[in-house]
Amino acid sequence: MLKLNNSQRRVLGALVRYGPLTRREICASVNLSWAAVSKIVQHLQDLELVIDSDERDSNNRGRRPGFVAMNPETLILGVSINREVIKTVSLDLTGRVTNSETALLTDGDDPVPEAVKLLSKLMKKLSVAPVIALGVSFPGLIDVTKQEVAFSVNFPEFVNRPVAEEFRLALQLDAPVFIERNAVCDITRLVTNRRLSGDAILVSLHSGVSAAVYIDGQILHGKSGNIGELGHLKLRDGAIPCACGGVGCVETVVGGLAWSRKYRKALRGRRSEGLPARFADALDAAVPEAVAILRETLSALCPVLSEITTLLRPDTLVFSADVPESTALVFSTVINEGFESVAPEVVLAEPFSTAAGAAALGLLWLSGNPHYKA
Ligand SMILES: [Zn+2]
Repeated sequence: MLKLNNSQRRVLGALVRYGPLTRREICASVNLSWAAVSKIVQHLQDLELVIDSDERDSNNRGRRPGFVAMNPETLILGVSINREVIKTVSLDLTGRVTNSETALLTDGDDPVPEAVKLLSKLMKKLSVAPVIALGVSFPGLIDVTKQEVAFSVNFPEFVNRPVAEEFRLALQLDAPVFIERNAVCDITRLVTNRRLSGDAILVSLHSGVSAAVYIDGQILHGKSGNIGELGHLKLRDGAIPCACGGVGCVETVVGGLAWSRKYRKALRGRRSEGLPARFADALDAAVPEAVAILRETLSALCPVLSEITTLLRPDTLVFSADVPESTALVFSTVINEGFESVAPEVVLAEPFSTAAGAAALGLLWLSGNPHYKA
């Protein structure tokens, strides 16, 4: 397994944070001498983590040699698990998704062996490319120090289960495996992709709902590791019993499971021939009933988010629903209508961002982020 010292990680951290840099820029950024930086860069090249590059990035026209960039041939894998769907990606060290696979999950399936199968399929496609880490995104409370799923409303049978280690063993990986909840992976994707220009709150709408907070250049974790878990905040006038044992939680109304329930109910007792059976497909086809459910339930979330954004004053409110482009349009419209008064900028994350964000945990590990240790 890859071993790196502090200075090497600081150099990688600068490249992850700012993109391709000249050796002189690296010296300034990490406060080391030219000789030290040259030696580190040489070592990182030998490890296939960085390369010499002509260009700063694709939108910098002037080709000036002498940049050091993250190596696009070396890969990190990511997998996102939800009640209904598993997605895997390979991410190169510049943050580009190079390959992806998706599988639907049937109720009652154990998601870990299914995800292992999907990752194996992806790894076969990648053949010789070196894989240096795997990141797992899981809906639930994660014990980050033990790398375990502590508890999950979506998968109630997961209690203190060492999921990261299960993946490492099943895939026979000689590489570290990191696990986080969906919202943290989603925001990690935006941070490592340099998409955030200020403070942000990200709301992750998958089978459940959670959020992550990015303030002063840091993703907040807190002692429990679960800052931003908003799925079980109580809604005003909420009355539906929740799987957590409470009543009127956000998740009883918002998120994939709640939407599917509501959509099935809307289909019952009326002519539903020709309408898609799954809520996600209905949204994809812009079926008015499905769009109405999205609009109505997100408006129930508005007062909750309004209070949180008043407290934390983010520059951007990001929603991640990890939906295909066609559905993204519906989502963007509903989100912008509903939340433009809540934060200065409201955006929707790109498809596959959760799995890519899980992989991007590996970039944080390379940069020496103390939350991710091999
Ligand atoms: Zn609850």
